[in-house]
Amino acid sequence: MTTKTLLHEAGSLLAELGVDRETSSGDLSVSSPIDGSRIAAVQRDEQPDLERMIASAERAFGVWRSVPPPRRGELVRLFAEELRQHKVSLGRLVSIEAGKILEEGQGEVQEMIDICDFAVGLSRQLYGRVIASERPGHRMLETWHPLGPVGIITAFNFPVAVWSWNAAIALVCGDSVLWKPSDKTPLCALACNALLARALDRFGGASEDLREGLSQVAIGGPELGQALAADRRVPLVSATGSTRMGGVVAPVVAQRFGRTILELGGNNGMIVTPSADLDLALRAILFAAVGTAGQRCTSLRRLFVHDSIAETLLPRLQRAYAQVRIGDPLEPGTLVGPLIGENAFAAMQQALGEARVEGGEVFGGERVLAERWPEAYYVRPALALMPAQSAPVRRETFAPILYVMRYRDLAEAIATHNAVPQGLASSIFTTDLREAELFTAADGSDCGIVNVNIGPSGAEIGDAFGGEKETGGGREAGSDSWKAYMRRMTTTINYSRDLPLSQGIRFAVDA
Ligand code: NAD
Repeated sequence: MTTKTLLHEAGSLLAELGVDRETSSGDLSVSSPIDGSRIAAVQRDEQPDLERMIASAERAFGVWRSVPPPRRGELVRLFAEELRQHKVSLGRLVSIEAGKILEEGQGEVQEMIDICDFAVGLSRQLYGRVIASERPGHRMLETWHPLGPVGIITAFNFPVAVWSWNAAIALVCGDSVLWKPSDKTPLCALACNALLARALDRFGGASEDLREGLSQVAIGGPELGQALAADRRVPLVSATGSTRMGGVVAPVVAQRFGRTILELGGNNGMIVTPSADLDLALRAILFAAVGTAGQRCTSLRRLFVHDSIAETLLPRLQRAYAQVRIGDPLEPGTLVGPLIGENAFAAMQQALGEARVEGGEVFGGERVLAERWPEAYYVRPALALMPAQSAPVRRETFAPILYVMRYRDLAEAIATHNAVPQGLASSIFTTDLREAELFTAADGSDCGIVNVNIGPSGAEIGDAFGGEKETGGGREAGSDSWKAYMRRMTTTINYSRDLPLSQGIRFAVDA
């Protein structure tokens, strides 16, 4: 893959996907992590642009909230058709802009299709409740109504799927959406929005307000995210990214009494017990730790292996690591593509240096393919055998480093597993029912995602996705996550001829 072909191919993909925004002469340079070359230049949006977009989103919301939910679902169904038709192209754009291997780029688009299908079904199931009243002749209802414009801030590593988790659900819930993607992956955002605009064309009868404001993309960095978070007209900000970002965004939104869905950093662990099926565990560890070059929020970063099986499992793991194919993510057969950029590489080297100081034995982690691609950052995934869960192990380094620790007692291993600030995904490999139940019990793993005999990464959209502690506590995608995108209305209807008060209160009025 040469620089010229990447530039050319990105341009053709954008045209095919219907992007009409100028992408060759803006002030934000977009490069591909595959070779570090520039593939586009888009114009940043400034504060006044954002102001205008939020006003458009408000107008669109005013129209969209009154469209019946199953009809709103029809738009999402049409969007899923566009995605099916353009899955290969959009997936390839993900690979070019974010550096994911082809299968993972395609997988992201499949995840978009899946959440759209889920949302279409949901559009006929935004169920409220009828609640028993203590008063005769009274009925109590709980109804869900659209909330307003939803601000969506996303990270570079899932440049299309995370937006769709939010957008597909928000749209059937009757909200308009305004997306601030990572400034490392604006092209994917423009492409998704262009496909949604095509779906809106086919939807029929969409007013000018809907065309302009139902779904928009604001391009820029943290400062634009800040402005979105601060705006009172945006009742919900769904922010995906680092814990550092969440720590800034959350108080800004809270101060104006807005709502947040926070999907922040993870530091995900796996415990392998003596009864585990080691063939299964080995494959799960490898995919979860080195897939997406360790740049998933759910990547496996901490492995706890029982002493009695460590001598069997760890040499096998080292052999498997040695065979991992690193290289051009567009070439079939590659398992590990590039890091997103130089800062990610520097953070990885820093963490490995600290691990060595802490007594860790490190295998791999070095830069590779630098002669072929001097502007890109490919690394050999690292295994770090650690004597204890010291400082570098307790923080998230967004790179393929797997810290390995041995344990003797499962309760202690679970306690150590939980003794980190993050709480996203976790897993246990065991064939012992008691161990599996303990890990998933109230005093087991403290994460949002707790798996048995499957790695921590690769969640399905039917689940509510998210984590506890510094991961932010938000939930997105399936289950009842949709409720975060709506406002709850509680109604009491008195169809009697009396006015009984609740709690038996008597309030006499002579009139
Ligand atoms: P990042 O925090 O640097 O950026 C994420 C987004 O937030 C970008 O759009 C960025 O422009 C914006 N942003 C950054 N600082 C901001 C601020 N102060 N105010 C407003 N907006 C701001 O993260 P990244 O490097 O793009 O992605 C990697 C991180 O995202 C990792 O920590 C990873 O675990 C996390 N992540 C979490 C999930 C999840 O679902 N929990 C999913 C994907 C990624």
